[in-house]
Amino acid sequence: SFNHSSATMPPATRILQPLKVPSKLLMGPGPSNMRESIMDDVKAGLQYLFQTNNELTFAVSGSGHAGMECAVMNLLEPGETVLVVQTGIWGQRVADLVDRLGGRVQTLNVEAGKAATLEMFSKAVEDCKPALVFVCQGESSTGVAQPLEGFGDVCQKNGALLLVDAVASIGCVPLQMDALNIDCVYAATQKVLGAPPGLAMISFSERAVYHHTAPISLVYALREALSEIANEGLEQCLLRHRQCADFLYSKLEKIGLKPYVQEKSIRLPGLTTIELPPNVEFKLIIDKLMSQGIEISGGLGPTVGKVWRIGTFGVNADKEKILKTVHALDEALKTVHNKDV
Ligand code: PMP
Repeated sequence: SFNHSSATMPPATRILQPLKVPSKLLMGPGPSNMRESIMDDVKAGLQYLFQTNNELTFAVSGSGHAGMECAVMNLLEPGETVLVVQTGIWGQRVADLVDRLGGRVQTLNVEAGKAATLEMFSKAVEDCKPALVFVCQGESSTGVAQPLEGFGDVCQKNGALLLVDAVASIGCVPLQMDALNIDCVYAATQKVLGAPPGLAMISFSERAVYHHTAPISLVYALREALSEIANEGLEQCLLRHRQCADFLYSKLEKIGLKPYVQEKSIRLPGLTTIELPPNVEFKLIIDKLMSQGIEISGGLGPTVGKVWRIGTFGVNADKEKILKTVHALDEALKTVHNKDV
């Protein structure tokens, strides 16, 4: 059910082309003379992925947390108020960071498994007049995809900057940074993109300057992952994640399991939280699957001991892999039940 507006900006031709790694003469004390064009390719790929024209769009060294830190450090002045929309552990993480940096935290607490409504969001922004607002689009601790329509406009109207964590949602949930009036988005390489962890992608609507030494082999890998998304097409990538999530829900239902997030429209396509059935030792099931080489995980933050989490990011948004996983889960549950009898 994605409409054409989920990705209206086309990819630049350069990111559709195969990677050309130049043969380089690294003569200085290193690193030196990295070909600018690789970084330009990455920038073009990221601008497409985030659907933005922001000049300041790049990859910073470090995992998703580095993106979070880079964003908050650069958007916050000590003493300023930050409104954190807390839908799970990532809001908590940002709140801790803001606190350590001398900012004042106000939280909008949302029940685990639910999303903030535009109405409650507007009221919170109007009430606390923050300089910065944090929202996690793909809350991987609860499996909720937070809708963002209208949030940027509310922030702009109230003089606040909007920061969005898209680590677990970019490429599996539509995100049009410019159209949504978002000031900063950060994401990571290891979810939908399936590139090695170690780079955080980030885009700023405002000017700022950074200097750091980039891990070049990771940049190559990111460039190739972005090229794959550009060639598949962002809309197709989003659709594949949506369809695979729907496929997973239907297969889970067949074996008597229910998604934890009740409202279907806010389920995060790349990560599904599943309610634990009664009297099942969830860790035992995870171990059984792991012994067959299939990793799923337990809950995180507000969902610890309440759910299993199955990720279907990137190449794992694939029906065969989903079938294999659900089949293994079914078999594991049967052996546990048989032993109980
Ligand atoms: N935000 C979200 C929504 C995440 O799911 C994660 C990682 N699971 C992070 C931030 C942190 O990313 P990283 O593990 O790459 O530091």
